[in-house]
Amino acid sequence: MRRVSILGATGSVGQSTIDLIARAPECYDVVALTGGQNIARLAADARALGAEIAVTADEALLPELRAALDGSGVEAAAGRAALIEAAARPADWVMSAIVGAAGLAPGLAALEQGATLALANKESLVTAGPLVMAAARRSGARILPVDSEHSAIFQALVGEEISAVTRVIITASGGAFRDWPLERLARATVAEASSHPNWDMGQRITIDSASMFNKALEMIEAREFFGLTPAQIEVLIHPQSLVHALVGFNDGALMAHVGPPDMRHAIGYALHWPERRALPVAALDLGAVGVLEFRAPDEARSPALRLARVVMEEGGLAGAIFNAAKERALDHFIVGRIGFLDMAPLVEAVLERMLAGPDAARGDLTLDRVAHMDHLARECADVVARDIKQQG
Ligand code: NDP
Repeated sequence: MRRVSILGATGSVGQSTIDLIARAPECYDVVALTGGQNIARLAADARALGAEIAVTADEALLPELRAALDGSGVEAAAGRAALIEAAARPADWVMSAIVGAAGLAPGLAALEQGATLALANKESLVTAGPLVMAAARRSGARILPVDSEHSAIFQALVGEEISAVTRVIITASGGAFRDWPLERLARATVAEASSHPNWDMGQRITIDSASMFNKALEMIEAREFFGLTPAQIEVLIHPQSLVHALVGFNDGALMAHVGPPDMRHAIGYALHWPERRALPVAALDLGAVGVLEFRAPDEARSPALRLARVVMEEGGLAGAIFNAAKERALDHFIVGRIGFLDMAPLVEAVLERMLAGPDAARGDLTLDRVAHMDHLARECADVVARDIKQQG
């Protein structure tokens, strides 16, 4: 029996992970499931899987969670410290699928206890990549990528030397607004941005796909995970979302990973690694697909990609600033305070102010400094959002 925990169990990736685990309950001992607001889902899954503990991030929801778990034998807990404690419970495999910077500390706790970390929470590597990789080295824990593009790169690298890699190409569907003219993008609504043409994902990553901030995060994630230089990382628009990434080698070969847009593939690969096992994923009929298209992204439409390069060149705490500003820009867009096209200028303004400011981002990378920069960047983002609203 493998002891497994799922952080962010009530979300899109968490639910796909549970789908795979629930198909073979005899193979898994479920230690911890964590969630946020969705107490009914968290309690139902904790009961069904016989988890040791269920944790909600929201302390105010603890009475509701306790009531929902009454008589089940599952422990209930709440709050940030409880999340970290649950992630630190001995387990063989931990899925890190909390959304946003909130996933960093629980993921680190899982790594520190030596569990294999299946990493969907790309924000961990964007905000504190060197700290996350160092924690894994210290404990001997393994990190397996779950983001489909990074899982694709990881799979294309099996049996290869990283020194032979000249480039990686991360594909992007282009999200909900791929073919919209810029004038229309300025008026895009939250509902329009929340629907993805190919993938079924949580609302925040879906909007980040439309704005290309998701791809920007993935570029930084690839740099941190695979130790690439910024110049080695390319992005291509690929509307079909079937080729998830390509790895280029020094002999000119490009190894592409092709598969249907179903997260259970990348999750299953991380769950069963180093073996490949059958998964409930549809076989791809390339004859029916017919055409696979690729085109270079238009950086004028996607300033997020340019900002990702600034962050990669800058290093240090720039990723923490970028991610926090991006998370707040998204919050402000979701509540209607700023428009869709205001998000990138907001993030850029925060980056410029903070990289030039007294708390210069070029200092040592420590967890405390990451948290401090995250806090300052969110405050700065709120000021910039107010300015944008007043001007608008
Ligand atoms: P969802 O929004 O669907 O789920 C997020 C999960 O995190 C939920 O369990 C949610 O709880 C929980 N959560 C939200 N806020 C907090 C918080 N402050 N503290 C602790 N837990 C919290 O997200 P996704 O599943 O789409 O994405 C999860 C991560 O995986 C993200 O980093 C995303 O970028 C990455 N990813 C997602 C992919 C996808 O296909 N969805 C693909 C590749 C990567 P609740 O819902 O109960 O409030």
